[in-house]
Amino acid sequence: MNPEQTLRKKSEVVEEDSHVVTVGEGYRLGDDFEQLKDATIMMVDDEAITMEVVRSFLEDAGYKNFVLVDDSTQATRELREHRPDVLLLDVMMPEISGFDILGELRSDPEFQHLPVIILTSSSDAATKLQALDLAATDFLSKPVDPSELALRVRNTLGAKAYQDQLAFYDLLTNLPNRRLFIDRTKWAIERATRQNTKVAMLHIAFEDFKRVTDTLGPKVGDEVLRQLAERLTDNVRGGDLVSASAVGETDALLDVFRLGSADFSVLAPNVKSVSDAALIGRRILNVMKHPLDADGTDVYLSPSIGIAGFPEDSEDAASLVKHAAGASSQASAHGGGRLRFYSEAMNKESLQRLRLEADLRRSVDNGEFSLLYQPKVDVSTGRIKGAEALLRWNRQSGETVGPASFIPLAEETGLILPLGEWVIGEACRQIARWHEAGIDLDVSVNISARQFFETDLVRLVKRSLEENGIEPKGLTLEMTETLLMEHVDVAIATLNELHYHGLAISIDDFGTGYSSLAYLKRFKVDEVKIDRSFIEDVTRSKADRALVLAVTYLAHELGARVCAEGIETQEQLDFIGKVKCDDYQGFFCSRPIPAKLLAELYRQTAEKTD
Ligand code: C2E
Ligand code: CA
Ligand code: CA
Repeated sequence: MNPEQTLRKKSEVVEEDSHVVTVGEGYRLGDDFEQLKDATIMMVDDEAITMEVVRSFLEDAGYKNFVLVDDSTQATRELREHRPDVLLLDVMMPEISGFDILGELRSDPEFQHLPVIILTSSSDAATKLQALDLAATDFLSKPVDPSELALRVRNTLGAKAYQDQLAFYDLLTNLPNRRLFIDRTKWAIERATRQNTKVAMLHIAFEDFKRVTDTLGPKVGDEVLRQLAERLTDNVRGGDLVSASAVGETDALLDVFRLGSADFSVLAPNVKSVSDAALIGRRILNVMKHPLDADGTDVYLSPSIGIAGFPEDSEDAASLVKHAAGASSQASAHGGGRLRFYSEAMNKESLQRLRLEADLRRSVDNGEFSLLYQPKVDVSTGRIKGAEALLRWNRQSGETVGPASFIPLAEETGLILPLGEWVIGEACRQIARWHEAGIDLDVSVNISARQFFETDLVRLVKRSLEENGIEPKGLTLEMTETLLMEHVDVAIATLNELHYHGLAISIDDFGTGYSSLAYLKRFKVDEVKIDRSFIEDVTRSKADRALVLAVTYLAHELGARVCAEGIETQEQLDFIGKVKCDDYQGFFCSRPIPAKLLAELYRQTAEKTD
């Protein structure tokens, strides 16, 4: 990119708010003290009761996170594990004394500066002198006075927070700096090793930033960096990765670090798959398509993003950092404004995904989709009473693709919304066509999470029904229990509304998710579909038989019908008949087939059973 492209003069219109002077952040003690309440406080004392008393005093003062250690030999191990913000240390302990621990800490670079408050019952000067000599931060005499305790802890934590701010944060952007980055990376890797999880790292370099300072001067450069930092932080904190791959709550700790002039890094300390980090990377690429404001001049900066993972790509913190940076250089060598993985295999996979996404997008516009129908059979009469609409992608290559290989991507990219709308519309048109031909079949459609939570499903469905002149009870909406459990209250409200309009609700894949029968009651469903995995082994597995029996019984108690999925054999059919499942689907009757064939099959079974 040449400078002309990077820098573009903004139109002459002066924005009204361009004269607003930003007031300095100011150091508001009140607020900062509130933040201190999140600090982790560790106590080492052989008398557990003393620690409990101190803890309850500190809880009264608003603190929440404590680590209590009554075995002094475990102190350093626990310190490494929990990395507290302050240590309250008893002096007189068997085996290892407080002084021993303090001495050890002060010679360890990791804990050299950890604030330590010495708890001592002796008021003699010699003890205090010795503690001071070992660089204790403060004292408290036992028995502790609650007000004095709270004040000493607060002041110690306050001083530490201020020091941390200076030592670990970049003054210009307020982002954590390289020092904290290295520290956090090491910690993330230690933890991932212990917990058998993965760490992903994005290295984000803006090579063309230098042109901004060269052309517009360092002051404007600083302002651009501040905007850059803000934009990165705003877009990294989003919930995408968290919901895509959260393994633990610590995923909220996705931090942006500033490593150098215009080099940044994002550490994702707890991901399911390193390729998930591409979501963050792609979002950053996207938002950087908008300009930054360099004192009235539009500046376009394109990031070179490199991604590496632990343990796949690296054996320790140093190599993880190196490989992420290396991948970023690769991205830059290819012209910037792009994302590269350290691993070649992952680069390939990511490219394939991008192609698939582009194809999918085009196909939605071109209408390359169709619905197949799988009959739903009444167990007692053997009659076909309805059908489930199942989506197929008929690619231009002539290949027909099943939903498993594109629904997740469609969901992730939002393409499921237009696609799902088409499915509902097409299913309604099919019901109308069948009615016209004198065939009375109910149709079920599958509803995805985003469709359920992000569109006005009720209006959409109502409109499709009206346009095709069909009754609501002819359409059943299938959704998984996992979907409904995502936001229970919203789900219940939407289900109630759908019910109110006369639609039938079915819980799909029952047994594979949360499977709370209590929720089944709150959701007020019309049908429960027992997942195929339980039917598969039902003739061999006693546990599966018990489950099918219990679910059927309870669903009936709650007034819902039960449909068994994936019936392939006569034995399976016999069993579900015995436990009084109402309906079934499965290859035993038919695979999903085009609407025309289903109409024929319907007529045949109707004749046979007449
Ligand atoms: P599902 O809703 O559980 O649909 C049943 C799946 O099991 C279908 O796979 C069907 O072909 C298969 N199946 C039915 N009977 C048998 C059997 O006896 N044996 C075996 N081995 N398989 C059987 P399909 O069509 O590949 O669909 C897979 C999943 O894709 C569906 O699972 C559903 O969750 C999703 N899906 C399909 N169409 C749509 C759609 O229009 N929208 C959304 N959001 N999801 C859809
Ligand atoms: Ca289904
Ligand atoms: Ca199912």
